[in-house]
Amino acid sequence: MASFDVIFVGGGPAGYVGAIRCAQLGLSTAVIEREALGGTCVIWGCIPAKALLESAAIANRVRHAADFGVTVGEVKVDYGVAMKRSRAVSLQNSKGVEFLFKKNKITYLKGTGTLTGKNTVSLKTPDGKEEKHDARKALVVSTGSRVRGLPQAGLELNKTTIISSDEALILEKAPASIVIVGAGAVGCEFADVFNAFGSQVTLIDVMPNVLPLEDIDASKEVERSFKKRGITILTGAKISNVKAAKDSVTMTVEAGGEKKELKTDIVLVAAGRAPNVENFGLKEAGVQLTDRGFIKINEKMETTAKGIYAIGDVAGPPMLAHKATREGHVAAEVIAGHEVAYDVRAMPSVAYTEPEVAWVGLTETEAKEQGVAYEKSAFPWAASGRALAMDAGTGLTKLLFDPETKRILGAGVVGTSAGDLMAEAGLAIEMGAEIADLALTVHPHPTLSETIAFAAELAEGTITDLPNPAARRCAKA
Ligand SMILES: Cc1cc2nc3c(=O)[nH]c(=O)nc-3n(C[C@H](O)[C@H](O)[C@H](O)COP(=O)(O)OP(=O)(O)OC[C@H]3O[C@@H](n4cnc5c(N)ncnc54)[C@H](O)[C@@H]3O)c2cc1C
Repeated sequence: MASFDVIFVGGGPAGYVGAIRCAQLGLSTAVIEREALGGTCVIWGCIPAKALLESAAIANRVRHAADFGVTVGEVKVDYGVAMKRSRAVSLQNSKGVEFLFKKNKITYLKGTGTLTGKNTVSLKTPDGKEEKHDARKALVVSTGSRVRGLPQAGLELNKTTIISSDEALILEKAPASIVIVGAGAVGCEFADVFNAFGSQVTLIDVMPNVLPLEDIDASKEVERSFKKRGITILTGAKISNVKAAKDSVTMTVEAGGEKKELKTDIVLVAAGRAPNVENFGLKEAGVQLTDRGFIKINEKMETTAKGIYAIGDVAGPPMLAHKATREGHVAAEVIAGHEVAYDVRAMPSVAYTEPEVAWVGLTETEAKEQGVAYEKSAFPWAASGRALAMDAGTGLTKLLFDPETKRILGAGVVGTSAGDLMAEAGLAIEMGAEIADLALTVHPHPTLSETIAFAAELAEGTITDLPNPAARRCAKA
């Protein structure tokens, strides 16, 4: 039996970041991982999906190259090549995590871990050996989540014609037709990718809009762009009568008062993920779950069992890599004895679609639902020189702020690099900045970041880049 201060089970963004931070804080640390370091994010999620989206973006850009005065030959796309590049990017990232483990002297234990007590884990190695390991200070459950089908709609994953994002990431070629069930970020990103690679794409969701968790203005803009590019969108939809044959699937879809029979090569189910909590010894160790089946934790990442912590997807939504890494940091600091808690005011979320959509803090939809008083300001990118130069004039930057204190409550962008632009707004919310702070910060010209300052100036009545009747009223007052 080997003994460590801390053992993490699961080497995804929650576990690997938590482990590195523990090691930095002087704790002897081990990570048990059954697949590869980096977890879903690096192997089956964020990174390979973004690599494919990059290929899609290049294809779309090149198709319009002539508008920019660049003539290229006929555009040919090859999903297999894009997929191989995406796998290579994944592997490179995973190897990077392994390198960091070596540098930080973290023990990487390959295999499947199971809790066998408050501070012991049993490890089943790839060659079938059983080992016991002891965690003197803390055990951290960072087992993440996995794909799931939609059995209630007749969509059990069969990995050939009814697939998940895992299989979509390793297809050798783009299908002629694909139905994507679930229009959240993952579903919309794959809709974008397969559309760019020539598949006939139908995107279905039970909710009334695509990206239902995002701001309504953003959802509408993505819908408009998708439809323009030939993606069929069926929202408020109900699926029934699913029949999977060897190389196709048929189903009935009711949407907008119409009933349609659909036949497709492949159905991709992107309707949420399940936390990895089963057959792991959680109950026996006294670790309780929430009503929704995630591990119950407090703001220090402590579970209901002393000495056992949980972080990342397994500890509840939002299922996002940056939420997982933040929790990894918090768990490590708490285990090292520091007075730290998870206290995030502004969690960004991004859909890397074309156009990209990002939000941080309250969305307008949430503000309405929660009865939060707000004012808003929206700057259209048609008035941004940089956006026009980039052919991105349909974008929008929107700020929500408190009518009394003028503090920023939320910010959203639809358009190129929306995710990157969210960092500034996130900082503004975390620091309790007011709308004037954004307006008075000098932003480099010409950049898309200016659109944040312009939206703030619009709220302040000081904008000069749009017609501004409020300015004269301010001057007279
Ligand atoms: C297609 C797709 C795209 C995504 N894109 C984004 C994005 O752009 N941005 C974003 O923020 N998020 C994105 N996500 C979500 C993101 O990947 C997850 O939120 C994140 O990976 C969660 O990290 P985690 O460490 O909690 O769990 P995971 O990354 O799931 O890692 C858990 C690890 O634990 C291992 N494990 C589980 N059980 C055991 C066991 N018993 N023994 C040993 N090892 C075990 C698993 O093999 C896995 O490697 C995406 C997800 C998908 C599917």
